[in-house]
Amino acid sequence: MSIQVFKFGGASVKNHEGIRNVANIIQTYGVQKPLVIVVSATGKTTNQLEEVIKQKFVQSDQAVQLLKAIQEKHNHIAQELEFEADHSIYQEIHEHIVEAEWVIEEDREMPFDYAYDQIVSVGELISSRILHRWLEKIGLHAEWLDARELILTNDTYRDARIQWNETNQKIQSRILPLLKTGKIIITQGFIGSTSENNTTTLGREGSDYTAAILSSALQAEAMTIWKDVPGILTADPAKFVNVTKLDRLSYTEAIEMTYYGAKVIHPKTIQPLKLKSIPLYVKSFISPEGDG
Ligand code: ASP
Ligand code: MG
Repeated sequence: MSIQVFKFGGASVKNHEGIRNVANIIQTYGVQKPLVIVVSATGKTTNQLEEVIKQKFVQSDQAVQLLKAIQEKHNHIAQELEFEADHSIYQEIHEHIVEAEWVIEEDREMPFDYAYDQIVSVGELISSRILHRWLEKIGLHAEWLDARELILTNDTYRDARIQWNETNQKIQSRILPLLKTGKIIITQGFIGSTSENNTTTLGREGSDYTAAILSSALQAEAMTIWKDVPGILTADPAKFVNVTKLDRLSYTEAIEMTYYGAKVIHPKTIQPLKLKSIPLYVKSFISPEGDG
């Protein structure tokens, strides 16, 4: 199977127009081959969730209020996508929020990093639910998978290490049969799980890394990161005027670039792709027809 892996970052799904646009990209460029989609939390949701976590350790009622605001923001996106009031998406959002609320309200002492991962993971869980229901609504056969059943890690919370053998095995056994039935897979970036079923995260901006792990385990034909830039540029276009697009980079050049601070791709992303010789495309979700 020549599988494609698409990763959509938070900026691409920040509101209902973003979700519609991502779905258009999937319909135009994604449905010709078996497709696995990895999605980040919407817009600045991860930063908002970090605030929730800080407040949990200061004033937990404040934390619950902030969490409710995040729920409202996502309900609003669902409303803008014209999901009926009784559609299951609202219940799905609610259930993920409740999971986080339990952690906030738990009395027992817990380490900050552990609490962080249990709560911050809700961002990706919710964004992927919305995208899943939207794809379904427009007639695509999509299956939502919980990344915590695919990406198995140790318990270094906030910077979890992948247990490669278990992870490869889970990804292959869960995803390949579904792809064979013609389903599009949609899952979350950034999050994983320990063998004790505690949620972990792979470090901020870690969704790219998730997509690379999936690409590697599935021996994907290619991985594409859809971003708000036309491709890999010589500098951050928000800060510099004379930037040009690099049409092609070797794996080694790309690794060096990310380790020297280029924010365009998460530093851990390239190595798994390099090992399997899987090409990585960086393309614009604003002008998807570009070469990247
Ligand atoms: N949502 C997470 C973050 O903002 C992961 C990601 O976007 O890649 O750090
Ligand atoms: Mg993000």
